[in-house]
Amino acid sequence: MTRLRTFPGGAHPDECKELAEKRAVKRIPAPETVRVALCQHLGAPSTPVVKKGDKVTRGQEIGSQNGFISLPTHSPVNGTVAGLEEAPLPHRRSGPVVVISTESEGGGPAFEPWPDFESRTPAELIERIKLAGVCGMGGASFPTYVKLSPPPGKKIDTLLLNGAECEPYLTADHRLMIERTEDVAAGMRILARALCVDDPAVGIEDNKPDAIEAFGKAGIRVEVLRVKYPQGAEKQLIKAVTGREVPVGGLPLDIGVVVQNVGTAAAVAQAVRDGEPSLRRIVTVSGGGVREPGNFDAATGTPFSALIAEAGGYGDDVARLLSGGPMMGLAQFTDAVPVTKGTSGIVALTSKEARRLTEGPCIKCAKCVDACPMKLVPCLIAANSENEKWAAADELGALNCMACGTCSFVCPSDRFLVHYIKRAQDMIRASKRSKEA
Ligand code: SF4
Ligand code: SF4
Repeated sequence: MTRLRTFPGGAHPDECKELAEKRAVKRIPAPETVRVALCQHLGAPSTPVVKKGDKVTRGQEIGSQNGFISLPTHSPVNGTVAGLEEAPLPHRRSGPVVVISTESEGGGPAFEPWPDFESRTPAELIERIKLAGVCGMGGASFPTYVKLSPPPGKKIDTLLLNGAECEPYLTADHRLMIERTEDVAAGMRILARALCVDDPAVGIEDNKPDAIEAFGKAGIRVEVLRVKYPQGAEKQLIKAVTGREVPVGGLPLDIGVVVQNVGTAAAVAQAVRDGEPSLRRIVTVSGGGVREPGNFDAATGTPFSALIAEAGGYGDDVARLLSGGPMMGLAQFTDAVPVTKGTSGIVALTSKEARRLTEGPCIKCAKCVDACPMKLVPCLIAANSENEKWAAADELGALNCMACGTCSFVCPSDRFLVHYIKRAQDMIRASKRSKEA
């Protein structure tokens, strides 16, 4: 039997995907009011170009790009701007949003469709991907056009699509891969042309045999991966598929690789082939805390509460609400936050699933060291952080931690390792900023 590819370290939490993996994606209409975040990604918010009372149409730009790491924002509906406000967001404490009263969702493409995208130049494709506001849909949400524009001198030879979806509970990418294989395949061809790369591949964990089969039939090279968390993290996916290692402090493009999520590829196909800006996304709503878990295609700006209602509403026991999966997802204090392009899942955990932990002392078992996919020593970084020894934590590589949560997951003493390491990262970054100022 062939040994499946994977990366060193990692863990295997309960997958809990059976709750939603067989549920076909249900498209839900936009609610009466959408709250569209002007920043749906890592970067600067777009600058609003509409004001209260303006009529907007579906696909119209409502925020203009504001810098290199920024994207234009578009209205997902036809309607009237009810106001601009600061509101809580799932990926940051709060941010500017455009509130739109929905009238309808119909209308033609916002851009000229390019079904003949093979005849377009890489520069034309990248410009369209930027204008359509496409950002990473796997969680980190980096503007996609930036990843397609490596600095001079950096040669990209490999494009990997990320279909690992290693977070427990989440099945949105899985459903997308089997229900919209052609969109992902077209997006992959566009991305490969934009990067001038031959022979791109998609990495999929072997718990999704139907997705592996669908891509195989579509003529896409599939790299089958052993199920392990955090296989969907860029650096781990690259290691698993190519054997290459991203240098400490470096980026995938430093070793000639670009990784894009499968959802991003589908959004790229819609932007380029169909002339459709990035206005919607597939969200898994799952966890023991909702009555009917499922996968939903929702307009950006839809409140989490509307999706939870689509999933049958809350059960009797909800201990924690997350945007994203239980390993890297962010706890939410309200379900009024809107769906953004990076919202892969909404997970409501029961008290049993949430495991409210009582922290014990470190017993120096080194399990966290063995599990860390970044080859860090989490117990030592955390100890230095607890003792506010920020320079020592920095020397131990605290900034290389990607907060994947694997160390906390395997720790028999339930140490809050990620919490300590993130605190150290905040303090180290603040200290570096003040030295530069
Ligand atoms: S130290 Fe950071 S990168 Fe390593 S396992 Fe813990 S959270 Fe993940
Ligand atoms: S896994 Fe937990 S108990 Fe073991 S060394 Fe790491 S922090 Fe200490």
